[in-house]
Amino acid sequence: ENYGLHEAHVNRTLVKVLQTIGFDKVYARAEGAYLYDMDGQDYLDFLSGYGVYNVGRNHPVIRKAIEDVLEMDLPNMVQMDCALMSGLLAEKIVEMTPPHLEAVFFCNSGTEAVEGALKFARGATGRKRILTLSGSYHGLTYGALSATNNGNFQEGFGPFLPGMEAIPFNDLSALEHELSKGDVAALMAEPIQGKGVNIPAEHFLSTAQDLCRRHGALFIMDEVQTGLSRTGKTFGFEHWNLEPDIITMAKALSGGYVPCGAVVTRRSIHQGVFSRLDRCVVHSTTFGRNNLAMACGLATLHLLKEEKINENSEKAGNALMTGLRKLQDKHELIKEVRGKGCMIAIEFHQPKALKLKMAWKAIHAVDKGLFPQMIVSTLLSKHRILSHVAGHNLDIVKILPPLIIGDKEVSRFVNAFDDVLTDCQR
Ligand code: PMP
Repeated sequence: ENYGLHEAHVNRTLVKVLQTIGFDKVYARAEGAYLYDMDGQDYLDFLSGYGVYNVGRNHPVIRKAIEDVLEMDLPNMVQMDCALMSGLLAEKIVEMTPPHLEAVFFCNSGTEAVEGALKFARGATGRKRILTLSGSYHGLTYGALSATNNGNFQEGFGPFLPGMEAIPFNDLSALEHELSKGDVAALMAEPIQGKGVNIPAEHFLSTAQDLCRRHGALFIMDEVQTGLSRTGKTFGFEHWNLEPDIITMAKALSGGYVPCGAVVTRRSIHQGVFSRLDRCVVHSTTFGRNNLAMACGLATLHLLKEEKINENSEKAGNALMTGLRKLQDKHELIKEVRGKGCMIAIEFHQPKALKLKMAWKAIHAVDKGLFPQMIVSTLLSKHRILSHVAGHNLDIVKILPPLIIGDKEVSRFVNAFDDVLTDCQR
């Protein structure tokens, strides 16, 4: 029934792909790290809405926050006022970011946060060029898509925003060469690239930040996926003690029910954009700062601290990576296991022969990621575990478990992974 409706009115091709790779379950219920089908069968959710459910699905504290804010009968979105909830959430966000960041702009998605960051960088510096990194993903609207270095997403949609340019990943001399031209508004980068789980070389980001400072460019960290404990620290940039001028966040910020995004900046950047009385809302969005999103944000930030989510993300992530790396002795197919916290990729050597039957082999789009897709499909069909294929070349299996998982979930995943790899070499 669900699939028929989607086939008729939503996305016919997606339905075809989902059915072919075996992602055709209908889930009836969700709690914590698990989804349940109509028969009450459990599925371990190592996808987490692509990194949304950091505190787990249907968390009672988030639900309570929604109920409470409705109960309070507060006016929602008067717009021409300074509402209680957004002030409170802005204060909490500023408390958890480095002290030089003081101003928060609220919006409704990660892409929209990126769009804000791009505009703020140009508006505050008066410069036009924005540098990004090869392999980046920042979203799919025109500004964000122009910053997303991926032919698959860009093909057929050009021309893109002028002044956007991707520098090769980890290439400091290319970066310095471009910055030295003196017209760069900002470098925008993910602390760890989400698409390929590419971790930058040890000194790359800190040197990049220094170079930006020296050449008058802003340093933007897109924390939409890495932020809010995903990598075992509150923000990904903390792994290298960075001090970005602008941070974007979204995804996990509102606990998974209602969308919420935010751009956090230095006061001077904010003032550079919004200082004129006649242009005080020169960048805005109708539903930004809505009470539900703000209440969910407050509840989420409370939970991250209260439930020591950073610690658990690091602990569970390390246990997963240790378990998966141990499998490398047994399964030569595993080329590398990499990640930080609970943002993890498993990359493979090209297998010589595939033994499992693959009905979906005919679909060209999926064909490229043949082996990783086979693993992901079998993890779901045989072990009831959700994961996904990622990487710009669809060459990795990526997992983004909720950050509340324990030993039970770690063992279930590692054992299942072992079993699937054993199966396909049998
Ligand atoms: N930036 C990054 C780093 C992301 O990972 C994503 C989403 N995958 C986005 C931006 C876009 O966010 P959204 O899908 O909420 O628009």
